[in-house]
Amino acid sequence: VTALIHILTASHVAGKDLATIARAAERTFAAPVQVEAIRLDLDKAFDASRSQYSSGILLAEILSQISSTTNEKYIVVVDVDLYIPVLTFIFGEAQFRGPAAIVSTHRLSNLFYGIPNDKGKLVIRLAKEVVHELGHTFGLYHCHQFECVMRSSTYVEEIDLKRVEMCAQCASLIHEACQTGMEKA
Ligand SMILES: [Zn+2]
Ligand SMILES: [Zn+2]
Repeated sequence: VTALIHILTASHVAGKDLATIARAAERTFAAPVQVEAIRLDLDKAFDASRSQYSSGILLAEILSQISSTTNEKYIVVVDVDLYIPVLTFIFGEAQFRGPAAIVSTHRLSNLFYGIPNDKGKLVIRLAKEVVHELGHTFGLYHCHQFECVMRSSTYVEEIDLKRVEMCAQCASLIHEACQTGMEKA
């Protein structure tokens, strides 16, 4: 049994752009990727004092909706601004070696920074963040290789500096993780 990855969208990202992102994830994880829609109760996660949405509450809601089998991973795409209590904002969050992750387009758009929209750039940034968070669900830690997609990014400029691919070391760890999963299955 190979891994199966679900990209669940609760965002306004176009289907063809999600398909582009799905192909990037397929290449990295050598696993089929399905794009599906998901309904989330965003109001439940809204913090009025921060005008942001709790990533933890949304992850819990996602977990309640998915049927978690050993080799299935779910990453949800939202447009709302995400936070965890200790940080001003986050681009996304993943359950380490868990089934679920979430990523937001909110701070990946040029419009957030008051510069002209560039949809191509948004899609590339989103692809990197999707692959990055999925990497955590497969058990990868942050990487120090400058261009590796598993390098941590605090600012959008740092996302632009890395590639959508993993470095050789992270790629071999993913390969191992997938093989271990197969032996268990
Ligand atoms: Zn990370
Ligand atoms: Zn790496």
